[in-house]
Amino acid sequence: MTVEHFNVTRRGFIRSLGLALPALAAAPSLSFVRASPVLPPATDLSFLAPHVTLKRRHEWTRISPNPERLREANGSSYDRITVHHAGMDIIRATSERAVVGHLDGVLGAHLGRRFGDVGYHFIIDYAGRVWEGRSLAFWGAHVSGQNDHNIGIVLLGNFERQRPSREQLATMDRLVPLLQNRYRMRKREVYGHIDLGQTLCPGKYLYPAVRRLKQRG
Ligand SMILES: [Zn+2]
Repeated sequence: MTVEHFNVTRRGFIRSLGLALPALAAAPSLSFVRASPVLPPATDLSFLAPHVTLKRRHEWTRISPNPERLREANGSSYDRITVHHAGMDIIRATSERAVVGHLDGVLGAHLGRRFGDVGYHFIIDYAGRVWEGRSLAFWGAHVSGQNDHNIGIVLLGNFERQRPSREQLATMDRLVPLLQNRYRMRKREVYGHIDLGQTLCPGKYLYPAVRRLKQRG
């Protein structure tokens, strides 16, 4: 059992009931069920492109995700975002080549934990680029037991020991609202990992910036 396979979701079960009983699902007595917004495919990240420097997954790795170890979001929406730091070495690399080396390291570590892919949906490097991680078509693997409907963003570096770069923070401040708008999230539904689990992540030098994003909501 890995974090990937926790929470065989109650929502998924309810959804399957809904599919089996469409007449009931449409009945007035169930009208409190919030309709899901109609969204373009999770792989369509064109809404990010004009606003951030985006690198797609295939641009940094040839390793394919293992769908047997992933759980599909099945068109369900996301309702919150959790911010992390990579949390190992101090990282100030800005060249694409060096960054790809770090991304390979994160992916390798997660595959070593038997995840089906890198656990985060987006990675922000020290230069402020956004690298696509796990497809939004799949729930992430970044907060134990709380991955459903939760977009995972990681900033490369260890923000217990270093400060994030101005570029990283500027990108986070752009990326979070873009995702919130795309998924019609409440603005306050952005967290540091420390808010949801026993961890120092995303580190004392990054967490205040996450709190500021939350307070905009
Ligand atoms: Zn974390």
